[in-house]
Amino acid sequence: MRYAKTEPEMAVRERIGETLKERGVRLTRQRRILLDLLEDSGEHLDAERLYDLARLKDPKLNRVTVYRTLKMLKDGGLVDELDLMHHAGDQHYYETRRKQEHAHVVCLGCGRVEEYFGEPLGELRRRIAAKFSFEVVVARTEVGGYCAACRAARARKPR
Ligand SMILES: [Zn+2]
Ligand SMILES: [Zn+2]
Repeated sequence: MRYAKTEPEMAVRERIGETLKERGVRLTRQRRILLDLLEDSGEHLDAERLYDLARLKDPKLNRVTVYRTLKMLKDGGLVDELDLMHHAGDQHYYETRRKQEHAHVVCLGCGRVEEYFGEPLGELRRRIAAKFSFEVVVARTEVGGYCAACRAARARKPR
């Protein structure tokens, strides 16, 4: 599934609603809560954290609903599943397909995740498409290393 680069955030939300309707999936109140959390959190949530946050909004919401909804959104190409270099173990993280492609820059020390939006990503995509005569549908870029704070802490530590 393709997504336009310039879509404003609001349109993304509407499109998700539309796509679900086309698939005959009812956007129940609970599913809406989960989608809104994914869209608004500004971070990459794993399933358990999403579950905790969702329960603050609806204490009746259960784990099964969280996992089923994530699977449905993922299968529908509406949500991306990331492992973020497995910096904190085996869990996966979720984010809605956004208006613009970005790379994830993961600190292997503290787990901080930065998002890099930049033209080189589009350039990489175009070059790969041209070189292999390949139609790129999805591209995921992850970079692991140490953030400035972790580098400073490491430098202070006696070896
Ligand atoms: Zn760090
Ligand atoms: Zn991201």
